[in-house]
Amino acid sequence: MKKNLILVLNCGSSSLKFSLINPNSGETVLSGLAERLLSEQASIKIKYQGQVIQGVLPSPYDHQYAIARLVEVLVLHELNLEIFAVGHRVVHGGENYCTPTLITQDVKSIIRDLSQLAPLHNPANVIGITAAETVFPDLPQVAIFDTAFHQSMPEKAYLYGIPYALYKDHGIRRYGFHGTSHYFVAQQAAKLLNKPSNETSFISAHLGNGCSICVIKNGESVDTSLGLTPLEGVMMGTRSGDVDPGIIFHLVNQLGYSVEQVSHLLNKESGLLGVSGLSNDCREIEDAWTKNRNPRAKLALDVFCYRIAKSIASFSASLTSLDALIFTGGIGENSMLIRENIVNQLSLLNFTISKEKNETCRFGQAGNINSDNSRHIFVIPTNEEWVIAEQTAQLLLQHTANKE
Ligand code: ADP
Repeated sequence: MKKNLILVLNCGSSSLKFSLINPNSGETVLSGLAERLLSEQASIKIKYQGQVIQGVLPSPYDHQYAIARLVEVLVLHELNLEIFAVGHRVVHGGENYCTPTLITQDVKSIIRDLSQLAPLHNPANVIGITAAETVFPDLPQVAIFDTAFHQSMPEKAYLYGIPYALYKDHGIRRYGFHGTSHYFVAQQAAKLLNKPSNETSFISAHLGNGCSICVIKNGESVDTSLGLTPLEGVMMGTRSGDVDPGIIFHLVNQLGYSVEQVSHLLNKESGLLGVSGLSNDCREIEDAWTKNRNPRAKLALDVFCYRIAKSIASFSASLTSLDALIFTGGIGENSMLIRENIVNQLSLLNFTISKEKNETCRFGQAGNINSDNSRHIFVIPTNEEWVIAEQTAQLLLQHTANKE
């Protein structure tokens, strides 16, 4: 049997997303999600050939168990025989990694050490890698880093205006995230323009639960809105994005918050949820405004869109030309209202929206949504899993070629 599939694993602190992908065609053969891991409600859902296999995970409810359950299904359908490598999404690669990397014990310990920069994510990624090594000891494991695409940012973009020693001695700088997504949509946008990607310039807005803007010049990231952690930049589902750092001192010194409470407030209770007081889910907030005229829902949408428009406009400082604005992520791919609100604030950059095209490009439909006399605006569904599969396969091909 031909081994032509990559198993892609994206391991979060309490979840595991997985897909079995043909890296050449991009076809997803099987996909699924294990949620609420490490709790008694741990469950797994696997989609294969139009069917959904659901199950409750027994104790110890962990990632290892979820992967073992996935392997049972793979073995049942003999799909395990077709897998030639495992590609892992790893959130933080620090300054150590700017390309896909074959995972060795040394690489794994560096990923573990980088946990100090991504305490919620990298430890989970290491758990996923260890679990995959246990069940697939003979398969190569490859790490694709979320920060890697942004390693091309110049110093002026990644340094903060704080003492330089904090960067040199402690790595405090901007790293950016969502790199795989921004890379993918920029490649797709270059294809839509029929231009080589190294001759294009884009501003990409990945708007999901997490949100980031990225400037891509000649195929490389030159700036992005997320920073040392995924808290900087535009407002998100529950994350505040940029705030005056003085707010933190005010909360601690005047209002008696502990550091943990401030962290919780800015990461989990802010953003769309914090402003609306309703939900972090954009659809629910849109419904609360369009169906019930809830004023706080409208306010949350307005703050969200204005901050994104302002960020996009400010990033024009990194460019001398601009081919297109790209929308992606759950909100960017689907929400007509958010796209229209943002674009309406960008007329100075010569962006205007076509209402008809904006209605068409939703639910997986890619295309342009600009009016005839506007600069290009593309909606492009992201596909991070495919990039992980593709880059994993390419790296292994190179390794084989180097050995021969
Ligand atoms: P994640 O960052 O967790 O991967 P997604 O990219 O899936 O998140 O985006 C989730 C967000 O997309 C949610 O706020 C959800 O409400 C929003 N979303 C999904 N579909 C729509 C839609 N049709 N209209 C508006 N928002 C949508």
